[in-house]
Amino acid sequence: MTRTTPPVHEAAAGVFFARGTDVNWILLREGRDLTLIDSGWPGDADALLASVRALGHRPEDVRAVLLTHAHIDHMGGAVHLHQRYRTPVFLHQAELAQTGGGHKQQATAADIAPHLWKPSALAWSLRIVRAGALGPHRVPPALPLPATGALDLPGRPVPVPCHGHTSGHTAYFLPAIGAVATGDALVTAHPLSRTRGPQLLPKLFSHDPAATASSLDALAALDAGLVLPGHGSPWHGPVADAVAAARE
Ligand SMILES: [Zn+2]
Repeated sequence: MTRTTPPVHEAAAGVFFARGTDVNWILLREGRDLTLIDSGWPGDADALLASVRALGHRPEDVRAVLLTHAHIDHMGGAVHLHQRYRTPVFLHQAELAQTGGGHKQQATAADIAPHLWKPSALAWSLRIVRAGALGPHRVPPALPLPATGALDLPGRPVPVPCHGHTSGHTAYFLPAIGAVATGDALVTAHPLSRTRGPQLLPKLFSHDPAATASSLDALAALDAGLVLPGHGSPWHGPVADAVAAARE
């Protein structure tokens, strides 16, 4: 089968957007070094390494993995990179408290089952089971993000707390590019959603839906014209407009 979507493409100068199993990750390039934001399902680890090599890099070039949150579909590849290459992994402090013995704020099979009557949702559930949704939910040993300011990593990402989807969910703002990696705080599509374009994830995935909605203020305040979501395609336009669309 040929893929119609290239596994990785340059969304902005030095910013590479890659798709795994219905989930995305982002690579920031500076010289020979990379920063990885999110990392797909455990079963996406090979695709993750392929996306690094597609840029002419080696896995050892990844200086750090920044996770938006500790859900299994975002941290699978980080487990592999840390084990194999000792790549440091960073998470918000509030997320670290959740990671002992698997994430407590994650939708379960029982939460998802009532939505599987639609053929597209059923096909999605089979894909994610193959990608490792049923476990084991291994968590990479992670370090807490510094409290404020740009990180001294390729792309100079600035953590932006936007809690709600999980207690420590964090977006990453790229001031020099005018882009923001929004993780699951703001997405542009999901197999369980009927609409496309900027939106919130279906409520069953959100630990605190009210906080998820109010934390969009932090994203709307950013001077960004490119949204790089955890699910769905990149979206070009002022992030404040994307937030307004998601709130409708
Ligand atoms: Zn999530």
